Amino acid sequence: MLYEGDVYRPPSEARSLIIQVTIGCSHNTCTFCHMYTDKQFRIRTREEILKDLDECRQAIGPYVRRVFFADGDALVVPTKLLLELLHYVRNNFPNVERVTSYGTAHDVLRKSEEELKALRAAGLEMIYIGAESGDNGILAHIRKGETAEEIVEAGQKLKRCGMKTSVTLISGLGGKKGIERHAESSARLINGMNPEYASILTLHLTPDSPMAQEIARGEMDLLGPEDIVTETEIFLKHIDSPGTVFRTNHASNYVALAGTFNKDIPEMLRELEEAKKHHWYRPDWMRGL
Ligand code: SF4
Repeated sequence: MLYEGDVYRPPSEARSLIIQVTIGCSHNTCTFCHMYTDKQFRIRTREEILKDLDECRQAIGPYVRRVFFADGDALVVPTKLLLELLHYVRNNFPNVERVTSYGTAHDVLRKSEEELKALRAAGLEMIYIGAESGDNGILAHIRKGETAEEIVEAGQKLKRCGMKTSVTLISGLGGKKGIERHAESSARLINGMNPEYASILTLHLTPDSPMAQEIARGEMDLLGPEDIVTETEIFLKHIDSPGTVFRTNHASNYVALAGTFNKDIPEMLRELEEAKKHHWYRPDWMRGL
């Protein structure tokens, strides 16, 4: 099996079998994102995907415990094909425990509740949603193509259908002027979704991205560690999402936090205060920059 182009997956899927069911991202216009800019989006054919699955079945079938459907938003694939793939996984990988994928809010909202429930019953356990921000001004600025209301609605719909969600936000997306707005609205977004998992990445740009060019022109600023920590503090102070497991363990983050809302928020705030006091920030050479 050969992957087409670079393949991305969430940190928690590091040990999963990754199967490309799409190439690229169906949206592909977010101004900070470089992941799939070199790919022309397409849904792979049933034959292409089944060929990959079959090769993996023969080579490592009994060892596969988790499967991740890539690329950018595999949930965009028609439900009929996704169900066929999920049934193949269930019938041919005897020890598989779960299947997950990325999905946009629009992918979720386009499917009916019956479709989502059928996907869940067939083994699709969790959808990773890149929400990025809860502020509609910031979402429009980064050309996300979705509103905070739509993202919350998608999260609630997945919950009603028994599917777990893992929501990612990006620190620094509002620049210095937008710190409070981004932090408070993102907390409201998480509160509205009450996802199983939430995480924050720190803005990390390639020089050719539209947002890096905005910064180069002086139209936006890139936040340093102190501002990023301040933003996370404001975010945590506005969170009310009991049971959500929260992480800032991505390589891009200056401070790694891990806890469960709401009970661990005081401890995480204390850790951020300590980090600020002692300048305990992950250096850039360790941030994959
Ligand atoms: S951030 Fe997500 S939705 Fe936006 S272009 Fe990148 S992969 Fe696509």
